[in-house]
Amino acid sequence: MGKLKIGVIGGSGLETLDIFENPTQREVDTPFGKPSSPIVSGKINGIEVMFISRFGFKHEIPPTQVNNKANIFALKYEGCRYIIATTAVGSLREDIKRGDFVVVDDFIDFTCRRDLTFFEKFEFGAMHTLMVNPFSDELRKKLIESCSELKIPVCKKGTIITIEGPRFSTRAESNLFRQWGADIINMATSPEAILANEAEIPFATIAAVTDYDCWKEDEESVTWEMIKQIMKDNTEKLKQILLKTIDSFSREEEIKKLKEKVRSVPNFPMQGIIFRDITTLLKDKEALKKLIDILYDRYKDFQIDAVAGIESRGFVLAGMLAGRLGTGLVLIRKPGKLPAETISESYNLKYGVDSVEIHKDAISPNQKILLVDDLIATGGTALASCSLIEKLQGEVVECCFAMELPELKGREKLAKYPFFSVMKFNESE
Ligand code: AMP
Repeated sequence: MGKLKIGVIGGSGLETLDIFENPTQREVDTPFGKPSSPIVSGKINGIEVMFISRFGFKHEIPPTQVNNKANIFALKYEGCRYIIATTAVGSLREDIKRGDFVVVDDFIDFTCRRDLTFFEKFEFGAMHTLMVNPFSDELRKKLIESCSELKIPVCKKGTIITIEGPRFSTRAESNLFRQWGADIINMATSPEAILANEAEIPFATIAAVTDYDCWKEDEESVTWEMIKQIMKDNTEKLKQILLKTIDSFSREEEIKKLKEKVRSVPNFPMQGIIFRDITTLLKDKEALKKLIDILYDRYKDFQIDAVAGIESRGFVLAGMLAGRLGTGLVLIRKPGKLPAETISESYNLKYGVDSVEIHKDAISPNQKILLVDDLIATGGTALASCSLIEKLQGEVVECCFAMELPELKGREKLAKYPFFSVMKFNESE
């Protein structure tokens, strides 16, 4: 598979996108005519992004005239593996407020003059595209995570009704759409979603709420001036959400490369265990820097007092991270290794019991402690380590692991604590 490219279709408020490194602009043509705008492309953190402005750079194209087929075809033809669209919407629900964002999960198509299919003829057989899940779960998850990381209020799902426009709805229509179960309303999404699904490109829409349409009697009915004003505030946030989401793709690529640096040793230390050996990553200066950069980026604003590392590979990562963060370093050790007064916590292994220890004076009350180990398997070691921290009245701000074996459900054992892992390994890998 070639280099990852992501398509972005910008809606009202996002007629231009100025978040690229070295953007270039190119007129393209398709068998369906020209897209709504030239394609602007450029890189964001190493990922190539191709942008089309749905209503033209100057918002000169009315919704009915948008050439959705050309827009989707052009992005597919240029090799985009995903398309993310933005849209300004009206809210049909009291609890979806102006300035909120909605990661749409379903649509009702109420357009009547759009060109809605690539399959005008069934020359290669019947083509009835499934529309039961029209928005990509993978993209939606990324958009939701980006919003929550940016602390931007987001509705994790919502049904959008797309009307023909360019006029707004009547009050009777708006109330009808509410009864139908629609949560938000616009003039753009259903044709794009239909065509992207026919073209088999994972597609998602992030909707920015600008108004309450006209159903709400105690509110002024929607006007284009009102939408433009609120859209200004939303646009900056939309750009941040797009940047974060695209960044998460570049992070995924980096993590794939990091995983390749970990050596998997079958049947060590006993039959049936695949040992995930981090020493091969640690000796590689670029991979080690990348891993520590990822951890530093995550924790730089956490106001941590000390990083607690679990013996022995956890010491390496905890030590380096504490150095970068400028925090203290606390050692959690196997029994009998610490010279001064200790407290200890036992945990069950598959066959038998083990324990971890910490110096009694290692942590002062109310200190914020980040727990770090190289790997979480069943989570017994980490849970016992958290108990030690709490016995000393420290606060576990997060449990952090370079590697996670999700099948062993360690994360569930630590459900009480915030959790983060960089690389996940399934048994089959
Ligand atoms: P657990 O208590 O089951 O979560 O085990 C975690 C501890 O055991 C960590 O300190 C790891 O370094 C080590 N460990 C467990 N399983 C593996 C594995 N498959 N590969 C490498 N280290 C492991």
